[in-house]
Amino acid sequence: MKIGFVGLGNMGGPMAHNLLKAGHALTVYDLNQSALKAAVDAGASHAASLQELASGRDLIITMLPAAAHVRAVYLGADGLLAHVASGVPLIDSSTIDPETVKQLAAAAAKQGNALADAPVSGGTGGAQAGTLTFMVGGTAAVFEQIKPVLANMGKNIVHCGDSGTGQVAKICNNLLLGISMIGVAEAMSLGAALGIDTTVLAGIINTSTGRCWSSDTYNPYPGVIATAPASRGYTGGFGADLMLKDLGLATEAAKHVKQPVMLGALAQQLYQLLSQQGSGGLDFSAVIGLYGKTEGVPG
Ligand code: NAD
Repeated sequence: MKIGFVGLGNMGGPMAHNLLKAGHALTVYDLNQSALKAAVDAGASHAASLQELASGRDLIITMLPAAAHVRAVYLGADGLLAHVASGVPLIDSSTIDPETVKQLAAAAAKQGNALADAPVSGGTGGAQAGTLTFMVGGTAAVFEQIKPVLANMGKNIVHCGDSGTGQVAKICNNLLLGISMIGVAEAMSLGAALGIDTTVLAGIINTSTGRCWSSDTYNPYPGVIATAPASRGYTGGFGADLMLKDLGLATEAAKHVKQPVMLGALAQQLYQLLSQQGSGGLDFSAVIGLYGKTEGVPG
């Protein structure tokens, strides 16, 4: 299949790589030249503009930081919708607000393109391994059409409902993730301060009722999980500023339906403090730095 891919960052880069491995003819576009070069070195063709990317594709996927970037890429005067042929399915895998998705899907539908929101869970590790979960919003027909391609990058491909419901699922998951990471950071910091070996403590938590992904796969305490960002200086994971964005999406969406999100609002403030301290570019598990001095934790 001739696939266009926009946004080759921490997630999009490895996702594009897996599409190449699956044998698709991939054309890529990104503002970052080194991200482009990595994809081209892996076998992709480089489009010089969104217009070039949009022309002659069977399917287009975008993986961008936030709603402003997604709007610009789809709705800009020289954006994807201005140039894509009618009938080509569009997939946005960025995490953005459900309202923007509905507006984009309506604009795409007007010219005969189905746009599905398909945000992901599984982190950069899942993107590399091709084991992401895709939460898809859109019609049943577009879901069936795009499912085989998503299966080249993920292992759980779930149809959540109409346009925007993929984002609803993603936002609720990340609300919980943002909160659970702070809970694990708090417990690990307390254990360390009280003198227990942190690997022993993590082992207990991970076979007890406190266990969660933030404790057993992505533990924020340095050295506890060798593959977690905490064990490599909090680099190369899910940026704290992206988590801050997702908690903003959750609290904003909650406001629309007057649903209280007390812990989510507190978590949002804690990641905001982390960002203010200059650590917004680090992995979100660096939030443990707010709990005082720990060897190997910045801040
Ligand atoms: P990233 O910042 O690493 O990558 C984004 C890429 O988009 C960059 O390469 C950037 O140059 C490119 N870009 C930005 N504006 C562009 C434009 N106008 N045209 C072309 N390219 C443009 O972000 P990421 O970590 O890959 O995350 C992407 C999305 O996935 C976000 O919405 C994030 O919330 C979500 N997400 C991230 C993770 C994670 O673990 N990193 C996990 C799940 C979901």
